[in-house]
Amino acid sequence: MSRRIDLHTHSAVSDGTDTPSELMRAAVAAELDVIALTDHDTTAGWQEAADALPAPLTLVPGAELSCVSDDGDGRQISVHLLAYQFDPSSAALVAEQQRLRTERRTRLRLMADRMAADGLPIDPDALFAGLADDAPAGRPHLARALVEAGQVADVNEAFERYLGNGRGYYLPRTDTPVEKAVDMIASAGGVTVLAHPWAYSRGPTVNAEVIEGLAACGLAGVEVDHPNHDSETRQRLRGLAAELGLLATGSSDYHGANKSISLGAELTDPEVFEELTARATGAPLVAGQPA
Ligand code: AMP
Ligand code: FE
Ligand code: FE
Ligand code: ZN
Repeated sequence: MSRRIDLHTHSAVSDGTDTPSELMRAAVAAELDVIALTDHDTTAGWQEAADALPAPLTLVPGAELSCVSDDGDGRQISVHLLAYQFDPSSAALVAEQQRLRTERRTRLRLMADRMAADGLPIDPDALFAGLADDAPAGRPHLARALVEAGQVADVNEAFERYLGNGRGYYLPRTDTPVEKAVDMIASAGGVTVLAHPWAYSRGPTVNAEVIEGLAACGLAGVEVDHPNHDSETRQRLRGLAAELGLLATGSSDYHGANKSISLGAELTDPEVFEELTARATGAPLVAGQPA
């Protein structure tokens, strides 16, 4: 039987519900042979996943980076970049993470100050006092504070009334430009794959010219088989990948109980995976140890 390879999953270290060790056990239960751990903007789950890795499983250390890109039509949009087997201690990466952390805190402070000035029950100093140094400061912190103050019933209402894109207190983030991220990961010995490039249901997407430009920057592949791509979209994307010499991957984008999709619901062809991992020189694959 051909190896079952799922290259995009989230643990509770970002917005999934399984701890990294639970995720590794779930991967074995789903009869996967290879799993990539790709938490949003963090490698904090790598160690736990590696330590808990069951024998039949291979772990691909990775992350899903939040980036900005031109959509090809002059608009700046949010895109996700899967990064695999990079060295997380690379100087360029560490510097960019520090920049993002600082920018996020500045932005959260501005949003909190504006809310307080308008008389909403937010105490910016208390908010920041309760924020861990390494936590990616963001809107969820403000949303929870509004819930705790009884201003809204739940986090969802906080986003709908105050914090969502287009609402009164929304401020944009200054994420990494995607070309820069491709370059940074390459210089850290890793490889990159554009996540769910044409998942229209998630918001605006980049056009084919932008993907061509990224291929020229060193992008290795595009995620073709993804739950948010319909069959017609997959066909067009697969055609574009072939034309541009990009690898076409497949993955579930599993988030545990936070989304309905199962581990291994979408898979990557073993030959494609071999090509992808052959290009990486940063962090090695991790092989599971017999108990
Ligand atoms: P930020 O990074 O500060 O822009 O906040 C983004 C985070 O807010 C996302 O990772 C989501 O977890 C959360 N989020 C965004 N929109 C909503 C929403 N409508 N309801 C609940 N959480 C949301
Ligand atoms: Fe997510
Ligand atoms: Fe994503
Ligand atoms: Zn994801």
